[in-house]
Amino acid sequence: MIALVPREFHLFQAAGRDFLYLVPSAAVFGLDEPTAAVLRAVVETRCTDEALTAALADRFDVATVGAAIAELLQVRAIGYEQQPEEHTPRLLPMMPFPLTTMVLNVTNQCNLACTYCYEYGEDKIVDTENGKQSKFMTEATALESVDFLLKESGRVAHLTFFGGETLLNFPVLKSTIAYARRRAAEAGKEIDFSLTTNATLLRPEIIEFLAENRVGVTISIDGPREMQDKFRVFSGGAGSYDVVAPKIKELLRRHRTRPIGARVTLTSNTLDITRIYRHLTEDLGFWEVGFAPVTTSPNRQYAIGDQGFDRMLDQFRALASEFLEHVVSNRHHGFSNVKDTLEEIHKGVSKAYPCGAGLGLLGVSTDGDVALCHRFAGSDTHKFGTVRDGIDRQVQSAFLQQHHIADKTDCRVCWARPLCSGGCYHEAHVRYGTTTRPNLHYCEWIRGWTDTCLKIYGELSERNPDFLARFDRDEAKAEAVL
Ligand code: SF4
Ligand code: SF4
Repeated sequence: MIALVPREFHLFQAAGRDFLYLVPSAAVFGLDEPTAAVLRAVVETRCTDEALTAALADRFDVATVGAAIAELLQVRAIGYEQQPEEHTPRLLPMMPFPLTTMVLNVTNQCNLACTYCYEYGEDKIVDTENGKQSKFMTEATALESVDFLLKESGRVAHLTFFGGETLLNFPVLKSTIAYARRRAAEAGKEIDFSLTTNATLLRPEIIEFLAENRVGVTISIDGPREMQDKFRVFSGGAGSYDVVAPKIKELLRRHRTRPIGARVTLTSNTLDITRIYRHLTEDLGFWEVGFAPVTTSPNRQYAIGDQGFDRMLDQFRALASEFLEHVVSNRHHGFSNVKDTLEEIHKGVSKAYPCGAGLGLLGVSTDGDVALCHRFAGSDTHKFGTVRDGIDRQVQSAFLQQHHIADKTDCRVCWARPLCSGGCYHEAHVRYGTTTRPNLHYCEWIRGWTDTCLKIYGELSERNPDFLARFDRDEAKAEAVL
């Protein structure tokens, strides 16, 4: 007789019941009482169908246990001992892969000198001061980039402007948007625009332009004055809070055509997440706030260590609970990290690669070099071609061959891999000197956060399934224009 054994899943409780996160399929599966009892029994001791039926006979009849076993076998939560376990298939994307998002680095110059900046700080990979790349993208290069994007994209294209400080090159940004709109209409494609800025250069005519053109705006800001002014400083060392706060308020007042989000870089010195969230949403009025730990080598004083990750997780959990309570009563909550992860869980995202970089997303440097993503733009590391000559498919294909999740030994057996897939390439490059390594320094944090989001997902599936259904409607809307 062959024993039943557990396969790959993550078991969690939410809304008073058991749920399974099935790793190979990335599906969430609510368990009824008999199925949960069968699964627990298989986890505790390897036993045959018959032994299991006998062990549960005082609670469930033979047919009920048989149906539960069949169901768990079908979804591959359990299997028979001698059947080989399936490993992550090494399926490579079909080439050529359409480009959905192009991040245009319109300048690599900045009017701030943030201590932790990956472009100017101690961990930079591109020499933006003395290197060969131009400091500003010319209009000609920007327009060539638009032609490149529209040639490589499907029915919908996203154009994101980035820097340095993006608004230092506002004239080029402005003419690029006008050109892109016209060319997209001629090509029968949809295009939308977004940018990231430090907010120091916002002024009424720029705000008007952004609102009129429905440009999505993300503001890099670290929180209230004392947190913002720790690292986000001008070159003389003066803090930037008093410069940006009134400009942000003006932007939020006048730009109502798209929700405006804040993007916070967390460091070991600025980890008071609840306070940062309250300030940005309640005092300044941001619609959404997203947090990301600083990318840096571990020996920097501001790097987040193990204890910092624990603290960060505790605070993320507290804010995620608040998000849940708001959403259950159909109120908005702007903690975007949890919303983004819920959307991925709902859509059953299972990543062979950690992000879109090198797939549907590419970065373009000031000189028109095409790179893995915006953080590599201008570096010869992972250059994929140029906007004039197009993508070197061999280089792109080789990159995808070398970075597949199936080749990341620790990740292959990790239950959080459908959503993490080894983490950001740039972070790995800074930490370990290579993009091929998974970011094993933050696995505990990733698994803890994924577990929290799964629990929130389970709660919502019982208490406000309509909220989750919105992700389907958004997708249907997106597909309608594809
Ligand atoms: S980096 Fe860590 S958490 Fe992420 S998939 Fe790999 S092993 Fe899992
Ligand atoms: S590699 Fe990192 S920085 Fe680049 S797109 Fe992916 S997650 Fe973002």
